[in-house]
Amino acid sequence: MNNLSDVDWDNSTDYQALWAECLEYVKDKIPNHTYETWFQPIKAASMTNKELFLQVPNKFFYDWIESHYKELLRQALKTITGNGIDINYSVMLSDTTHHQNDKSKPAVLSQNTISQPIAKVTNKEPRSGSGFLERGTKININYTFDNFIEGQNNQFAKAAAVAVANSPGQTSFSPLVIYGGTGLGKTHLLQAIGNEAMALGKAKRIAYVSSDTFTLDFITAIQNNKSTDFSKYYRSVDMLLMDDIQFFQGKESTQEQFFHIFNDLYQHHSQIVLTTDRPPMKLQGLQDRMLSRFQAGLTVDIQPPDLETRIAILQKKAEHGNLDIPYKVLEYLATNIRSNIRELEGAMIRLLAYSSLSQVDIDISLTQKILRELGTGKPTLSISIEDIQKQVGKVYDINLDLMVGKSRKKEIAEARMTAMYFARELTNLSLKNIGLYFGGRDHSTVVHACKWVESRTEKDEQFKRYIYNVRQKIESKG
Ligand code: ADP
Ligand code: MG
Repeated sequence: MNNLSDVDWDNSTDYQALWAECLEYVKDKIPNHTYETWFQPIKAASMTNKELFLQVPNKFFYDWIESHYKELLRQALKTITGNGIDINYSVMLSDTTHHQNDKSKPAVLSQNTISQPIAKVTNKEPRSGSGFLERGTKININYTFDNFIEGQNNQFAKAAAVAVANSPGQTSFSPLVIYGGTGLGKTHLLQAIGNEAMALGKAKRIAYVSSDTFTLDFITAIQNNKSTDFSKYYRSVDMLLMDDIQFFQGKESTQEQFFHIFNDLYQHHSQIVLTTDRPPMKLQGLQDRMLSRFQAGLTVDIQPPDLETRIAILQKKAEHGNLDIPYKVLEYLATNIRSNIRELEGAMIRLLAYSSLSQVDIDISLTQKILRELGTGKPTLSISIEDIQKQVGKVYDINLDLMVGKSRKKEIAEARMTAMYFARELTNLSLKNIGLYFGGRDHSTVVHACKWVESRTEKDEQFKRYIYNVRQKIESKG
């Protein structure tokens, strides 16, 4: 493929060429903006004894690369060099995020940035004996309960997860099925169960696997006449964490295999936790007997987080990675990216990367630019004020005429204020325009309505939940 494979990397000092080659490899495999965000800011610093030293802007960056692109980098190095080269990460000391008040600092990506080691990532072939196939059993230590922010959207799911981590197989929550949309924290929660159970010594053999890896491993096992070993391995665990079981749809023989393993574990009171992107009953192509097994346990859902939770998640991530991002910016991000936490994090990191590469402050206008580039800059386009009036009207059981009319009857006024509040929260309309949509009311009426809703949500827990539910209805348009 290239002449680099002839290089003796043990003696090579030409790590820059190696890294450049790696980047080429990576570039082909991921979208351009992902490449720019995550790979462009990385710098190859040195190489000794088959260890390539890379510098990343901050710890969060490292965590992200580790959890998303580790395998890709491993592949790249393997393809290029043919032998096991380790990667060592360090954080650039002149922290990218601190230049906000100090414009005189040198470019953070300069050649001689001093670095602080954070972690070593081994790129050697997995050791045998630690799992059926090691790639199926890796648990990411960064996914803990500690850094899982709780909100109304995931409270129940988290409580159930904590319960099974504390007493695997001892609660009536087996299997525990966690379902929810993409990027809402299912994998995080699933792995947190594994980490916690391990830390507490509650489970010794834990297998974490996604259903498609399970399927692949199963096929490989059959091809190599190892299907007995395969099933023996999974039957021997005391906790099976299976991610994304929707991928089992239509795969009859893998399902069959899984069903037997499932039954066996179930009978031996091993803890089973499954995740899926939709309610189990909507998993078409999954055998009924499997679905009815799921009903024996507990099914919990994770909903999209509300604004406060989204802000809290970003704050936690920023704190964890020692990132200095103004609160206003976090709030702006959280306001504009609503339905997917992975995207939210992605935007935050893109912001950091951009600011460090081009040496500009992280502020609202940069944030707007990034969101525009990501195509999330106009988040509210999909929700119209008519949608809001319709949904709120439905909830309060009043029609549009009443909603925009003059009546001051308590329920009607409440519905009106609630709809105004959501119009401001969920659309880009100015206060003045919102007023116009409500029978030509003044902008100060809209302000008053928003304040009323906000202060009541602060005081009245029940009302807060109510508002949360209405928001869900509006956002899902039904
Ligand atoms: P899913 O598996 O549901 O698609 P993930 O578990 O991969 O989603 O979550 C996507 C990202 O969002 C992860 O980086 C995860 O750490 C983060 N995340 C999701 N929910 C939370 C939360 N409640 N608190 C903190 N981080 C979260
Ligand atoms: Mg997932």
